[in-house]
Amino acid sequence: MKPFSYERAATPEAAVAALARTPGARLIAGGTNLLDLMKLRVEAPTHLIDINAVGLDRITPTDEGGLRIGALVRNTDLAADARVRRDYGVLARALLAGASGQLRNKATTAGNLLQRTRCPYFYDTDMPCNKREPGSGCGALQGGHSRPLAVVGGSDQCIATHPSDMAVALRVLDATVETLQPDGARRFIPLADFHRLPGDTPRHDTTLAPAELITAVTLPAPVGGMQVYRKVRDRASYAFALVSVAAIVQPDGSGRVALGGVAHKPWRMEEADAELPRGPQAVVDRLLADAKPRPDNAFKLPLAQRTLAAALADAKELQA
Ligand SMILES: Cc1cc2nc3c(=O)[nH]c(=O)nc-3n(C[C@H](O)[C@H](O)[C@H](O)COP(=O)(O)OP(=O)(O)OC[C@H]3O[C@@H](n4cnc5c(N)ncnc54)[C@H](O)[C@@H]3O)c2cc1C
Ligand code: SF4
Repeated sequence: MKPFSYERAATPEAAVAALARTPGARLIAGGTNLLDLMKLRVEAPTHLIDINAVGLDRITPTDEGGLRIGALVRNTDLAADARVRRDYGVLARALLAGASGQLRNKATTAGNLLQRTRCPYFYDTDMPCNKREPGSGCGALQGGHSRPLAVVGGSDQCIATHPSDMAVALRVLDATVETLQPDGARRFIPLADFHRLPGDTPRHDTTLAPAELITAVTLPAPVGGMQVYRKVRDRASYAFALVSVAAIVQPDGSGRVALGGVAHKPWRMEEADAELPRGPQAVVDRLLADAKPRPDNAFKLPLAQRTLAAALADAKELQA
């Protein structure tokens, strides 16, 4: 690990000010992703700004009937919150499908959204990777291993997937990310616009500006329905999704669907939701109409359809 300096910010304003004035600085929350990246020399911040003492660790009701989740709320606490379990079951289930109990005790809401891809070449500094080192090439596309990677929304620069389970549930719930900028301005970014596709600049995972701090994630008023999260992975726990499905199904058969493990961002299209009454194949055909799978990850297309079928069966059981 390269040497770095450290400070502990007392307020969100102090954290963004420190971030703006210190070149090469990074925020650290639970540290469960950033520290691994530093040990592997994928990330080499010159200065760490610890935000664990800035507050932002509460879940509070909003005037609109939803919930405001502070950026520092731990994944364990969010999954266990009685309001989340009652009204946003898809979120509680997605959180519990991620990582392990110990990791969830440390991992924060903002850190989870900002965790980096699990593409193996991103973590291997001996391999080319346009996301880690722009212009170096793509280990996966240059004849490498692409089994866990994206089948849709990729580019000729990068086919990484976003690894967060929580983000897939937040997408289906139409959550909003709230931020603070160094000039004191706040932004409200719909989750749909928060993660981006790789295009020509795979280095950037999100639309967050430099020195911008996530302060909270807001959930709209509950939409009811049967809320399920299904995750298919190579082993039963402690593994990232090959394909996952977050679904909310209403008693009349309408609903919403988002996929994880297939793209650089949680993958949802509102027009595909309208296909739900026609069944899982129709939804997935719409969601993955522009898919460009690689030979070793083409299995994700039928897997997405089967995972959605299983999720819809889970939803029916909840209704019964
Ligand atoms: C072995 C293992 C298995 C895992 N399995 C899963 C899994 O199955 N599913 C899953 O979804 N996740 C999984 N994870 C990932 C884990 O959920 C993330 O590492 C965690 O959520 C990151 O949160 P953190 O608070 O520790 O982030 P940190 O590591 O502290 O930070 C991550 C990034 O977010 C930035 N950041 C943090 N807070 C803010 C803020 N408020 N504003 C702006 N930037 C901020 C940091 O600068 C950093 O770049 C796994 C991790 C490990 C190590
Ligand atoms: S898919 Fe993206 S993250 Fe993976 S090696 Fe290629 S550029 Fe890097």
